[in-house]
Amino acid sequence: MGWDLIVGGGLSGLSAAHTVLERGGNVLVLDKNSFFGGNTTKATSGINGALAKTQIALGVQDSAEIFAQDTARSARDLARPDLIKEKFNSLVSRLGGHSQPRTHRGKVMFLGMRITFALMEGIEEIVNNQPDRARLIKKARVTKLIKEGDAVIGVE
Ligand SMILES: Cc1cc2nc3c(=O)[nH]c(=O)nc-3n(C[C@H](O)[C@H](O)[C@H](O)COP(=O)(O)OP(=O)(O)OC[C@H]3O[C@@H](n4cnc5c(N)ncnc54)[C@H](O)[C@@H]3O)c2cc1C
Repeated sequence: MGWDLIVGGGLSGLSAAHTVLERGGNVLVLDKNSFFGGNTTKATSGINGALAKTQIALGVQDSAEIFAQDTARSARDLARPDLIKEKFNSLVSRLGGHSQPRTHRGKVMFLGMRITFALMEGIEEIVNNQPDRARLIKKARVTKLIKEGDAVIGVE
């Protein structure tokens, strides 16, 4: 079986890596830094979500549509409507760029770091116990996608 190549060892990349592994694939994760985690380790406030039980209990007038509008406004010309879709019990607060309180967090501190470290520990365990299924390479900056038609078949 081939290897799925994942560029970036933050929350997106590590989530993708675990999804591939859970479905029986093999993964090679590259990161330009000397450590994994990316900006995700800096995320401390919580996780944004509209229509959560906590918001409803507090009477916050939020909706998936308002959340999508706020996200598109923040992203400006980089907005990808296909990626801005609705998705998420906890404390809820309002952060910059959001018109409604929708940032949810438990009582734990350093949420992003905790989630990312759990994903990192999980994948490192697989790397150590099943090296034929997962490999991590740090200090590996990807500069070019190698394509065959529309399909990406490798990277430089
Ligand atoms: C200070 C701060 C606080 C934040 N707080 C919150 C919060 O409380 N709640 C919230 O929801 N969001 C928060 N965010 C936003 C959140 O951190 C990001 O949306 C999220 O981490 C993005 O995850 P990611 O995996 O896409 O990117 P990252 O976690 O940044 O991971 C990207 C990875 O890709 C690697 N990489 C990039 N380019 C290359 C390349 N060419 N070759 C190889 N590797 C590459 C990077 O080194 C990095 O490790 C915060 C962001 C910052 C900066």
